[in-house]
Amino acid sequence: MTLDSKIPPGPIEKKWDTHRFNLKLVNPANKRKYHIIVVGTGLAGASAAASLAELGFNVTALCYHESPRRAHSIAAQGGINAPKNYTNDGDSVWRLFYDTVKGGDYRAREANVYRLAQVSGNIIDQCVAQGVPFAREYGGLLDNRSFGGAQVSRTFYARGQTGQQLLLGAYSSLSRQIGEGNIKYYDRREMLDLVVVDGKARGVIVRDLTTGKLERISGHAVVLATGGYGNTFYLSTMAKASNATAIWRAHRKGAYFGNPCFTQIHPTCIPQGGDYQSKLTLMSESLRNDGRIWVPKKKGDTRRPGEIPEDERDYYLERLYPSFGNLVPRDVASRRAKEMCDNGYGVGSTKLAVYLDFEDAIKRLGREKIVEKYGNLFDMYHEITAEDPYKTPMRIYPAVHYTMGGLWVDYNLMSTIPGLYVIGEANFSDHGANRLGASALMQGLADGYFVLPYTIGDYLAGTKFESVTTDAPAFNDTESAVRQQIKKLMSVNGKRTVDEFHRALGKIMWDNVGMGRNKAGLQKAIEAIRQLRDEFWKDVKLVGTDDSLNNELERAARLVDFLELGELMARDALHREESCGGHFREEFQTEEGEAKRNDKQFAYVAAWEFSGTGNEPKLHKEPLEFEYVKPSQRSYK
Ligand SMILES: Cc1cc2nc3c(=O)[nH]c(=O)nc-3n(C[C@H](O)[C@H](O)[C@H](O)COP(=O)(O)OP(=O)(O)OC[C@H]3O[C@@H](n4cnc5c(N)ncnc54)[C@H](O)[C@@H]3O)c2cc1C
Repeated sequence: MTLDSKIPPGPIEKKWDTHRFNLKLVNPANKRKYHIIVVGTGLAGASAAASLAELGFNVTALCYHESPRRAHSIAAQGGINAPKNYTNDGDSVWRLFYDTVKGGDYRAREANVYRLAQVSGNIIDQCVAQGVPFAREYGGLLDNRSFGGAQVSRTFYARGQTGQQLLLGAYSSLSRQIGEGNIKYYDRREMLDLVVVDGKARGVIVRDLTTGKLERISGHAVVLATGGYGNTFYLSTMAKASNATAIWRAHRKGAYFGNPCFTQIHPTCIPQGGDYQSKLTLMSESLRNDGRIWVPKKKGDTRRPGEIPEDERDYYLERLYPSFGNLVPRDVASRRAKEMCDNGYGVGSTKLAVYLDFEDAIKRLGREKIVEKYGNLFDMYHEITAEDPYKTPMRIYPAVHYTMGGLWVDYNLMSTIPGLYVIGEANFSDHGANRLGASALMQGLADGYFVLPYTIGDYLAGTKFESVTTDAPAFNDTESAVRQQIKKLMSVNGKRTVDEFHRALGKIMWDNVGMGRNKAGLQKAIEAIRQLRDEFWKDVKLVGTDDSLNNELERAARLVDFLELGELMARDALHREESCGGHFREEFQTEEGEAKRNDKQFAYVAAWEFSGTGNEPKLHKEPLEFEYVKPSQRSYK
C-alpha cells in the first residue's frame, strides 16, 4: 500500500478552507442513518462524540473508566495554546505554526500544523462558551502565560487544572447529547479488538470490565481517541491505566504505526523515590515561567540549597540559552538536566535531580501572586515530598510524559484502515519529534471539535456500505480470538506478577530507549524485550477469574501489547540514524551536544506495518516537505 497523506493542494493558508469546501457532505436527514463508534472519552473523544452527535450522527461512546471525567486528560495542568495575541506581543497563526514545526524538529507535516494553529483560536471561544473558567487578567481579558519553545505568551490556563476544566466542558457537551438520546454511552468497557469487514473498520469487541462479558458493537466508522502509550516505560507521568491496547490491536489489524519511537521526556517531574514506586508526578512546565533551574557549580556539593551562595550556582539553561533561558523546549531542558546529573552536579539523596527555584519570583511578585498562579502545584509537591517549595527549591528530574508517535493518519485523520479514524494523543499527531508544551490539549480538541466532524462526513457520504450485523463472521472470529487470548492469559499460572514483568520492561525501555539511545543499546533492548515476552507467556501469574472484575487480567492484557509495542519503539529508534527532538541518538549530536538531524535521509514519517509478533515489521515512508518553514539547526540561544 502506498501512503497517501491527502494533503490538499494550494497555498498553506487556504488548504483547510478549500478542503472543507471540497469535502462531501451528508444530508442532515441522512446523518441519523450513520452510526459512529467513538472509543475513549478524554478530551479528544468527548469533544468528537459531542460534536458528531450535535451534527445529527448516531454515536456510541465508550471508555474503560467509570466516568468520562476520569480520563487522563484531567491531569493536564499548565494550559492550552492559541495565538489570540491578547498580550499584543507579536503572536499570530504564522508564529504558532512556525514555533510548532521548529519545536518538533522538522518532523511534522506542515499542512497539519498550519491547520492546527488556524483552528486553535476557535477552541478557546468554544470552551469559553461552555463556561470553562480560564484565568483572567485585571482588565477582564483571558490571561496568558508562556510555555517552552515560544517567545510570546499564548497559553490559556485555569490555574494548574486546565485539563480538568476543559474536560468538564467537553463532558457537559457529551452529557447534553447523551441526554438528547444521540449518544449511547457505555462506561467500564474496554475495546479489545477492531472488527474489519471487507477491508473497512466496521465495529469493535469490548469487554465489560465489571462482568467480564464480551460484547460486539457494529457501526459505519470507528474513532479511536484512546490516548498515549507512555506507560510502556512503566514509570511515567501518564495515568496508571493509560495503555496502548486499542491502537496496538488496530495496528495488528492493518493500521500503520507512525514514528513509534518519538517519546517526550518532560524535564520537570518529581524525581523517583524508590524501586517500588508505580507513578511519577509532573510539575507543570508553567512553573518555568517564574522558576529558575540551577545546580551547584561544585561537583557533589552536599550543602543545602539555601547555603549555596548565588555565585556558586549554575543557572545552566540561562547560561547556555540566553534567548529562551528556562523556557527552552522540553527535549532540550531534559537533556541538559540529565547531562548535569551524569556529570556529577545532581542534587538530593539520589543525585538525580536539579533545582527549580522560586526564591527570586517570590521576592519579585510576592508569595500571594505565586499562590494564585501555582498554588495547587506547590501543594502537590509539598504533599508528595514533605518539602515546602515556598521555602526551598523543588527538586526535579526528567520523566516520560507524552508520546508523539501513534497510529499513522492522513490529513483527514483516517488511518490506513478505511473507516478507522484516530484522534488526540493516539495518533502520530502534529508534533513531529518533540511536542511543545500546551499543544496536546490544543491538538486533541482541534481534532475532536473542528477537524474530524468535517472529514468523517466525507468518508460516510462517499462510501457504499454493505449491511453488517454483529453476527457477521468477522465478529465471530474477532471475538473468539479475544476470548482465546484471555483464556491463555488466565491459564499460564506461573510465579511472577504482571507488575514485575511491567517493571522489567520499563527498565529495559528507560535504560535503552529513553533519553539517550545508541545502536548497541537498542539492539540489546530488542533482544531483551523478546526474551521478556517469552518469559511472560511462561511465568505470569494471574489471580481471580475472567468472568468478573479482575484488574490483574486487565493489566496483563495491556502488558501483552506494551511488550510488542516496546520492541517496535526500539526498532524505530534503531532505524532512525539521526537525532531529532526527543529522539536522541548519542552517535548523532553536534559539538555542543544538541540533536543533529539528517534531513537528507530521514525527513520522513516512519509508518510501520505489522507482520506478525516477532517478525520484522515493514517500513513505509511518508516524505516530509518543508515549503514554508525551512529546516535549520534548531537554536534557542
Ligand atoms: C500530568 C500531565 C499534565 C499535562 N499537562 C498538559 C498541559 O498543560 N497542556 C497540554 O496541552 N497537554 C498536557 N498534557 C498532555 C495531555 O493531557 C494529553 O496529551 C491529552 O489530555 C490526551 O487526551 P486524549 O483525549 O487524546 O487521551 P486521554 O485523555 O488519555 O483519554 C483516553 C480515553 O480513552 C479511553 N480508553 C483508552 N483505551 C481504551 C480502550 N481500549 N477501550 C475503551 N476506552 C479506552 C480512556 O478511558 C479515556 O477515556 C499533560 C499530560 C500529563 C500526563
